[in-house]
Amino acid sequence: MPVEHLQISTRQRREIIDITARVADAVAATGIRDGLVCVSVPHCTCTVYVNENESGLVSDTLKLLSQITGTTGWQHDRIDDNAAAHLAASLVGNAVLLPVSGGKVELGTWQRIMLAELDGPRNRRVTVTVVGA
Ligand code: ZN
Repeated sequence: MPVEHLQISTRQRREIIDITARVADAVAATGIRDGLVCVSVPHCTCTVYVNENESGLVSDTLKLLSQITGTTGWQHDRIDDNAAAHLAASLVGNAVLLPVSGGKVELGTWQRIMLAELDGPRNRRVTVTVVGA
């Protein structure tokens, strides 16, 4: 099963990075024309999702996650002070599954594959697993 790995160095405590082009390159490198791609992160405090890469919406997404989780008062903060990042990552999820057609990831006009760093800066790994023919 073809698997590619991306290394993403994040620069801020919380930020959102468009990884669509890098995923597209990884899918192309597998040579698979038609099937499915799973884009996942093996981390507890970052996440991947699909939505529009518009600066206002990117800011709104980080604001929403902060509003939902708050910043203090969680038990896990006794361990390493990043409970809000864990909780936000759990809400969004650690993977997206998308169709591949003609060697390209099928996305809508405004859809992008986004990585949300919630406890950076860190070096993150993205796994791109493609199944098909
Ligand atoms: Zn933690």
